[in-house]
Amino acid sequence: MKTRNVELVASPRPAHFVGDGFRVHNFIPYGYRLEMERMNPFILLDYNSKFFVKPSDRPKGVGVHPHKGFETVTIAYKGKVEHHDSHGGGGVIGEGDVQWMTAGNGVLHKEFHEKEWSKKGGIFQMVQLWVNLSAKNKKQNPKYQSIVNQAIPRYYLDNDKGKVEVIAGEYKSVKGTALTFSPIHMYNVKVKKGAELDFSFPVHYNTALLVIEGSITVNGQEHAPTNHLVLMLNDGEDFKVKADEDTIVLAISGEPIQEPIVAYGPFVMNTREEIGQAYQDFTLGKYGVLAD
Ligand code: MN
Repeated sequence: MKTRNVELVASPRPAHFVGDGFRVHNFIPYGYRLEMERMNPFILLDYNSKFFVKPSDRPKGVGVHPHKGFETVTIAYKGKVEHHDSHGGGGVIGEGDVQWMTAGNGVLHKEFHEKEWSKKGGIFQMVQLWVNLSAKNKKQNPKYQSIVNQAIPRYYLDNDKGKVEVIAGEYKSVKGTALTFSPIHMYNVKVKKGAELDFSFPVHYNTALLVIEGSITVNGQEHAPTNHLVLMLNDGEDFKVKADEDTIVLAISGEPIQEPIVAYGPFVMNTREEIGQAYQDFTLGKYGVLAD
């Protein structure tokens, strides 16, 4: 198989706040170097790099807001997030846990630091990805997959060098738990210094690595430090990653959905008319009711 090379090692751009609780760097999109379509079906990646949250009796976060036409995947590395939605759902995403929410035909939700965690405060670190849905699947009813860390299947490296938590898809015959609507691989690679891994994805799958902790060298030449995103080219299948220190990497790879993407705030549809309709449905209260 042919080697897949590095296109770009992206450093974090200045952070901005989402609500008052999430201080994020946008890696998808990333200016003209990495537009929303480039990592399709991954159309947004907000990375909340480590920051200290002061103790507060009033949890910080984002109040009631809609989503329609895609899925949000929230991965907590440090701290805890509590969520509630207009379908009566809710829960806590703890360290190492993943929440895969299908917004589908429309949901209202709110996301805050978990109440007890907020009282103590601490280091907060998480990722939120938006995964696009095909026109057909934009009509799905909203649902959650709450994937606690212990339930994530693991591939263990030899010599106690660490593990690959397979959130979705497959790594060396270990299959992930998340049900996806299109082919997606998503792993949390948690390895020790010196660990070497190889990856192989179909050439047309859009692929990237986010360095959460530590640092890596890709294909023996491209170095990527903490809080950097490695965008891989679509010029081959196989690539190698070496951990230069104890490292955590989020690896994502997915088959692009061959449909137009029209995004407006929290709505991602195929046409402008559908965006207008989505916004109107939201103002008419068709996504349900959720108290502040
Ligand atoms: Mn949201």
